[in-house]
Amino acid sequence: MRIMETDVLVIGSGGAGLRAAIEAHRAGAKTLILARTILGKAHTTMAEGGYNAALGNRDPTDSIESHFQDTVVEGAYLNDQRLVRILVEEAPERIYDLEAYGAVFDRTAEGRIAQRPFGGQSHPRTCYVGDETGHEMIMALTEEVRRRGLQHSDEVLVTRLLADPTGCVGAFGVEMRTGGYLAVRAKATVLALGGAGQVYRVTSNPDEATGDGYALAYEIGAELMDMEQVQFHPTGMVHPESAKGILVTEAVRGEGGQLKNARGERFMERYSPKQMELSPRDVVARSIYTEIQEGRGTPRGAVYLDISHKDAGLVEAKLPRMVKQFRTFANLDITKEAMEVAPTAHHFMGGVKIRPEDNRSTTVGRLFLAGENEAGVHGGNRLGGNALAETQVFGARAGRSAALAAATPIMPALDEAALSREEARLDSMFRKGERPQAIKRDLRELMWAKVGIVRNEADLIRALEGIQSLLGRSERAGVSGGKLYNPEWYDAICLRSMLLVSEAIVRSALLRQESRGAHFRSDHPRRDDVHWFVNVNVMKGKEGRMEATTTPIQATELRPEGAGK
Ligand SMILES: Cc1cc2nc3c(=O)[nH]c(=O)nc-3n(C[C@H](O)[C@H](O)[C@H](O)COP(=O)(O)OP(=O)(O)OC[C@H]3O[C@@H](n4cnc5c(N)ncnc54)[C@H](O)[C@@H]3O)c2cc1C
Repeated sequence: MRIMETDVLVIGSGGAGLRAAIEAHRAGAKTLILARTILGKAHTTMAEGGYNAALGNRDPTDSIESHFQDTVVEGAYLNDQRLVRILVEEAPERIYDLEAYGAVFDRTAEGRIAQRPFGGQSHPRTCYVGDETGHEMIMALTEEVRRRGLQHSDEVLVTRLLADPTGCVGAFGVEMRTGGYLAVRAKATVLALGGAGQVYRVTSNPDEATGDGYALAYEIGAELMDMEQVQFHPTGMVHPESAKGILVTEAVRGEGGQLKNARGERFMERYSPKQMELSPRDVVARSIYTEIQEGRGTPRGAVYLDISHKDAGLVEAKLPRMVKQFRTFANLDITKEAMEVAPTAHHFMGGVKIRPEDNRSTTVGRLFLAGENEAGVHGGNRLGGNALAETQVFGARAGRSAALAAATPIMPALDEAALSREEARLDSMFRKGERPQAIKRDLRELMWAKVGIVRNEADLIRALEGIQSLLGRSERAGVSGGKLYNPEWYDAICLRSMLLVSEAIVRSALLRQESRGAHFRSDHPRRDDVHWFVNVNVMKGKEGRMEATTTPIQATELRPEGAGK
């Protein structure tokens, strides 16, 4: 086993992790980045449509206040408004940091950063680089990491956070390149491991999005919040089967794309006549779902998204990735024909509950969170463009806070017995047993069927029973082959996170007996601000059982009428 030591350990090299590492280093801390992929090959790279900042370049009447209002109102008031305030106020500065690192955003004729409209926004405020915004951001961030000579260990799958009574003291993982183990001692740890879309059969997320961040933090005592709030993006590819779930960016609708059912009707007129295609994602996703369920979908179980009425040159210029994606995967020219689309599991608004002042876990010392791992910013419905801003705003804050916490001469000790136990657990997976892939497949199917866009109590109870049974199967699973680059082993390791995250989603969804944001209960179809103006928290309780409770929402500025009365 290799042992390393650092002031600040950043786990995850997506937008949030890289930004946290840069800031920790800037604050003078010795910083190490660990990630299961090579530097910067993260979910963030796939982000397409853009980054929200109220710059007012396209519409001078836009303001920080409008950004705040849109985020809270469209988040169904579930957001921690202290975090929203930070997001909207700091997003503009952080985009200029990206420019300083080398990112080149598209420009207006006057040379300012260009902005496009996105769903649920009162003003066009999404800054972009065509439909490849995340890629440009990651290129700039990795350049800055290299320029600073920051230490990074790539292809390390973290399997456990190490803890002592004062909090998190580092992490343990598998070095994929050697098959050996690595333990890192750290004075402070930033967790930025992204989302958990892989718990659903149809998802826009990459293979690494197995929810490890939520699970690792939960295991050492962190509190999770609003895990029922899973965003289903309205438009994922449906065809061919191998491309199912791949994102069709909201920028298509931002650039004028129209949704039509199989009868050719622009059905959003019936569901949201004012905002139409640019309604919040939860509204558009449920509308598409309803059209398909009620028989007005295409034979492939989809609706049409059409941008072919726009000038082909403009489509090529503004949506180059979409043009290429459909040409390559579906042999379809989107400048001439409509795309077929249906909802796809996309984003986790819930996550680890943090203290707004420093991004620290509310319950675990020395553990800081950033990006999709943290809860509270987006409430019940993330606005397109707010997640990329979140990675930069809260990445920088987490990095700075972690560096501050690490400004002590005392390096925590590692518990050798705990390291040996983890090593033995991982070694013991090599045995005869059911293939982990089969259990993973069944879990993803179960979550899609019972815990999807529309939920009800009976389905959720069946899902919980199903998860318990899959948990039993996972304990008897076996991995074959060796330790070098063995995807079956990684599946077995991550299955634990996937099951834990799934259980947290289901328990939270069962507890919230109303419909709010992305969480829609057909047996409680209305939002109930009187009784359910609360966040749902999940924690490891006595005897290691998962417990769900509620606490009042942090509504410091805006409240819906009658809330909590
Ligand atoms: C297709 C797509 C398009 C999107 N478009 C937009 C958009 O236009 N605008 C917007 O605001 N948002 C968008 N989003 C959402 C946004 O991209 C994400 O919320 C955001 O990028 C998450 O960043 P992150 O740094 O938190 O995590 P990620 O970018 O997911 O990075 C996670 C990191 O953790 C590592 N990791 C995971 N598990 C482990 C482990 N066990 N051990 C070690 N390392 C691990 C990964 O390798 C990776 O380096 C999009 C999402 C998708 C999927």
